[in-house]
Amino acid sequence: MKTSAQVVVIGGGVVGASVLYHLTEAGWSDVVLVERKELAAGSTWHSAGGMHTLNGDPNVSKLQQYTIELYRTIEARSGQDCSIHLPGGLMLADNRERLDWLRMAVARGRYLGMDLELISAAEAKAMFPMLEEQYFVGALFDPVEGHLDPTNVTNAYVICARQQGAEVYRHTWVEALNQRPDGTWDVVTDKGEIHAEHIVNAGGLWAREVGRMIGLELPVLGMEHMYLVTEDMAEVAEHNAATGHEMPMALDFAGEIYIRQEGRGMLMGTYEQACVPWSPRQAPWSFDMELLPPDLDRIAPSLEIAFKHYPAMATAGIKRIVNGPFTFAPDGNPLVGPIRGIRNCWVACAVMAGLSQGGGVGLALANWMTTGDPQLDIWGMDVARFGDWTNLAYTNAKVRENYSRRFRITFPNEELPAGRPLHTTPVYDRLTEHNAVWGAGFGLEHPLWFQRPGEEPVEDVTFRRSNAFDVVADECRAVRERVGLTECSNFAKYRVTGAGSADWLQGLFTNRLPNPGRVALTAMLNPEGRIVGEFSVARIGADEFFLFGSQAAEVHHSRWFLAHLPAHHTISFEVLALSLVGLSVAGPHARDVLQSVTAESLATADYPFMTFRRIDIGMIPAWVGRMTYTGDLGYEIWVAPEHQRALFDLLWVAGQPYGVALYGFRALMSLRMEKMFGTWFREYRPIYTPLEAGMDRYLRFDHDFIGRAAVEAEQGRGRERALVYLEVDPDPAEPADVIGDEPIWHGDEVVGWVTSGAYAHYSATSLALGYVPVALAAPVGPEGAGGDRPQFEIEIIGHRRPARLLTEPVFDPRGERMRA
Ligand SMILES: Cc1cc2nc3c(=O)[nH]c(=O)nc-3n(C[C@H](O)[C@H](O)[C@H](O)COP(=O)(O)OP(=O)(O)OC[C@H]3O[C@@H](n4cnc5c(N)ncnc54)[C@H](O)[C@@H]3O)c2cc1C
Repeated sequence: MKTSAQVVVIGGGVVGASVLYHLTEAGWSDVVLVERKELAAGSTWHSAGGMHTLNGDPNVSKLQQYTIELYRTIEARSGQDCSIHLPGGLMLADNRERLDWLRMAVARGRYLGMDLELISAAEAKAMFPMLEEQYFVGALFDPVEGHLDPTNVTNAYVICARQQGAEVYRHTWVEALNQRPDGTWDVVTDKGEIHAEHIVNAGGLWAREVGRMIGLELPVLGMEHMYLVTEDMAEVAEHNAATGHEMPMALDFAGEIYIRQEGRGMLMGTYEQACVPWSPRQAPWSFDMELLPPDLDRIAPSLEIAFKHYPAMATAGIKRIVNGPFTFAPDGNPLVGPIRGIRNCWVACAVMAGLSQGGGVGLALANWMTTGDPQLDIWGMDVARFGDWTNLAYTNAKVRENYSRRFRITFPNEELPAGRPLHTTPVYDRLTEHNAVWGAGFGLEHPLWFQRPGEEPVEDVTFRRSNAFDVVADECRAVRERVGLTECSNFAKYRVTGAGSADWLQGLFTNRLPNPGRVALTAMLNPEGRIVGEFSVARIGADEFFLFGSQAAEVHHSRWFLAHLPAHHTISFEVLALSLVGLSVAGPHARDVLQSVTAESLATADYPFMTFRRIDIGMIPAWVGRMTYTGDLGYEIWVAPEHQRALFDLLWVAGQPYGVALYGFRALMSLRMEKMFGTWFREYRPIYTPLEAGMDRYLRFDHDFIGRAAVEAEQGRGRERALVYLEVDPDPAEPADVIGDEPIWHGDEVVGWVTSGAYAHYSATSLALGYVPVALAAPVGPEGAGGDRPQFEIEIIGHRRPARLLTEPVFDPRGERMRA
């Protein structure tokens, strides 16, 4: 056994094997994989081997597509038969909403290069004769779906990796991980130690336990999962004989069922509602290549549906029932990437669909380790999307919720209840008294909208306009015509202080740092010149700053900052989390309200737009920035939590003469859209450049910053695509606004995709932001060059709706309101 290596991958399941393979593909050959038992001995060997490309996150879909396409390559290169079957797959919808969801998936597939087809229930029946047509209203057919042998695939990855220098040690148990002061690792195994620069936790069923070796509690939980395999069935033989090919796979939303041909019988699995975690506290190291006792009672409700939907299954003999554990993260997507604050420590775990996702996970992680960037948009899988607060109990609640909703639709306006409320701010009860409808982001409750008095604070879940529509319209009107009050604690807040802070931040940020007492907006780029962050930077002294950014990206961004701290520095970088909370007032009377409770002059001459200062509001010490995301006259007021209730009461009373109203996140999204303001994770993501995103005003070339050379190079050759602002005509018969991820058509071609959409209530129009090739981003005349044909169309729930290019915000294009 080697005593040193550049990388030690812990775990020889399909995921660890893929990471190893992709590292060698990227040119790293001094890499080792350590497996405590046999390869695939964890959850991989007993997997049903199914694979499909569809995922709620289009970027994850792309990686699933990559994974499936990779199998033929590794099969050929390794000489290992992977038993690849690609009969295609059906997703069966039993009601209108599920059919809508499929329509939207087909639409997304258009720009992902997927060949998806929406078919009728009768067509589905023709492809899969075992189903009872009466229970379905339609289906989606994906030709790139199938199944393979999970153990053989694992071996194929490993054979390919070995061909390129990797070494694999089976029956070698990692017992401890010790980090040296230089950031390298001593990997202690029962066969000796390996000194490694990097470690990768691909421990699958034991990933949580491997994390604990270094004091890390990863949000991952094993769940029991069952599928059964039938004896040979006459129906299968008939279908094979008649068509000459295997039956397609099928996903049946109504019963949380997947079903496919296995040999000459069928294989059927379910995600049962009465789901059971496996080893909720500690996965036993004694667990070998074993199965768990089957429990048919637990899946009886799903079986009942299955027997109705596929009557032949009711009489088929059962040959085998498999009950095995596999792991989930709270949202069901993998945990991939570097761990914040721990050098050279990477994870690739919680991969619940290892055969669909393993290749993409390996590719992204290997890119990240070898180039410093995943080179793909993998936010949906980034381990940084969860904070330290995602402990055992939270993970347990969320994973069970996710498991039991595996094939369920989560509507774009739906807020799932498990693990809530968890984090609340001091004004939570006040806002609840005002009938707030709550949402949660990064564990924190935040008000979505305020239901009218006497009505239940619940939002209908839908792809179309919900019962919130008219109420949110009122909230928007209050902000634009009077004054609105909201909570804004759901930002990530950081404080940076100490000698050298300004120089350090300046080297990370594209914009020039503001002067003390001022705020500036900035982007943060990676060396390839892509956007890794977007912040409001408030300077309160020569070397003292507050940074405000996306709350969901708190770990993602702080990981970047911490990794880029200079050696031997004197800088303090602090994540403020909920030690600083906020309220915001916005609207033409915002200044009148705030002025009535502070002695500080708020006149524009004294407190101009983008000022940030420490002032007293009543008796409350506050940091007050003159800015709001509504694009109106407004202030964000930041205080210690113990002051937030008093501040709320003070502003609420002071606002009464001006007709103050509460507004929530839904109104804010509508207001920002009519101002054409982009947002992190939608318009600004690591796949876009600041030039593409139209962030030119954030770029100053008077200083050096990470990514500057790449931006300059892009300026030279010209950007490839551009963010555009579109006004959409929804279907008047059944109005639905753009949500995000819809394809943008130009003529008969899909040329781009939507990043955000909303109904702009105050401007009474439906809006979208999205990316298209730069050549199409310029206006071509009032109604399109080709006569009155609109320039674009956006596909909304299966209907192509006209979308016109706009060149300026629909509300206050010159920004006079903010500066007034
Ligand atoms: C019943 C069932 C059906 C499934 N069906 C499908 C399906 O149809 N399609 C699909 O895509 N997915 C399916 N899955 C899920 C799939 O099995 C997993 O996504 C996949 O196995 C995850 O692979 P992994 O490499 O992350 O984990 P694992 O396979 O668990 O591998 C982790 C490895 O790490 C090793 N290890 C852990 N700790 C150490 C240590 N300290 N030292 C050395 N080695 C260590 C373990 O021995 C293990 O071999 C199914 C799962 C189950 C249970």
